[in-house]
Amino acid sequence: MRDPTHLQEKFRARFGTAAAIYRAPGRVNLIGEHTDYNDGFVLPAAIQFYCWVAAAPRSDKKLLIHSENFNETVEANLDSISAAGKNHWANYPLGVAWALQSAGKRLNGANLLISGDVPLGAGLSSSAAIEVGVGFALLCQSGCTVKRTELALLCQKAENEFVGARCGIMDQFIACHGKASFALLLDCRSLDSQTAQLPAGVQLVICNTMVKHELASGEYNRRRAECEEGVRALRVVLPQIRALRDVTIAQLENHCSLLNPTVYSRCRHVVTENERTQEAIRALDTHNLREFGRLMRESHRSLRDDYEVSCKELDLLVEIASAQPGVVGARMTGGGFGGCTINLVESSAVEVFKENVAAKYRAQTGLNPEIYVSPAADGVQQVDVSSRESAQ
Ligand code: ADP
Ligand code: MG
Repeated sequence: MRDPTHLQEKFRARFGTAAAIYRAPGRVNLIGEHTDYNDGFVLPAAIQFYCWVAAAPRSDKKLLIHSENFNETVEANLDSISAAGKNHWANYPLGVAWALQSAGKRLNGANLLISGDVPLGAGLSSSAAIEVGVGFALLCQSGCTVKRTELALLCQKAENEFVGARCGIMDQFIACHGKASFALLLDCRSLDSQTAQLPAGVQLVICNTMVKHELASGEYNRRRAECEEGVRALRVVLPQIRALRDVTIAQLENHCSLLNPTVYSRCRHVVTENERTQEAIRALDTHNLREFGRLMRESHRSLRDDYEVSCKELDLLVEIASAQPGVVGARMTGGGFGGCTINLVESSAVEVFKENVAAKYRAQTGLNPEIYVSPAADGVQQVDVSSRESAQ
């Protein structure tokens, strides 16, 4: 984790003034994968890995944005923001400035120093962390207020329309609304959410496969198109449905002949995953950890076989983890094709789990997996650097 005092010093060395410090968290999703863009349910928790943003106002309309992760500075003018080129990191912060202004927020020029400790491109949503961290910083620096849900929606708009990635709302929502010790059940249609207390005596353990397969973004967009195709075909007999969220398992089975086999499998994942996510909340409420673990395993199976977004490294990590003592459940988390798994592990078993999983995965792949243990964290906030507590 970054030391915010150190970040202030770096900011002063680069820009010559003091800075305010903000941070927005990455996330894991416990269950409810590829459901957000189908108007469904998700159960993410923010984690104690952050995108840190040091910011100070400028007297002109410029944005000077330096990313420590890329060791690069980008300059833009708020009156004429344009994209920085395909796949350039600066499109995330620039897109957020563009989206905030397009919603009528009057932004001041600012110097920004960005330093992220959420692993980039590992499925823990470093992208929403940078968007929400920068958005929050720019709004604070400009004296604008905005509701957290509106900030999440504007950051999603930046990623959809400026960066060009068709993500759902989950990542930005949890980066804004995360709550320490809690996961959040989010209804991605109404944006109603409720906190879900994580069980005592278990920890969130994240295992990074250390791979990211190139086909991820193309396949992601293809899955979205397949879901839309499923809805179009089912509307012929179910005209009231707007999204796969509205389809029951029985309806899907009754009308499976309307769908080609691939689209049917994709729909089956989404429909059953929505069901599982709501069952998972009931399992948490009734302290039924065994059932929660079963649902996580079933979710992974469905993502692997029906949605086909897993990969051999994710499957291997889940298989190794599931055989360890003290493991409640294990599954891939995030978009898939690499990235991370989420494991619920009894606290007393975590150290042995880390050693065993790392050794076995290394032996079979030659890759050294990073393993992170994180309590559920709070959403975006300004960090009071003078207070030792918040600076930890
Ligand atoms: P994920 O969100 O799972 O980490 P994405 O591909 O959605 O993966 O987003 C990763 C991209 O977000 C990076 O390649 C980079 O362009 C941008 N990004 C995230 N964090 C930072 C950062 N600290 N500095 C600059 N760019 C960042
Ligand atoms: Mg992302």
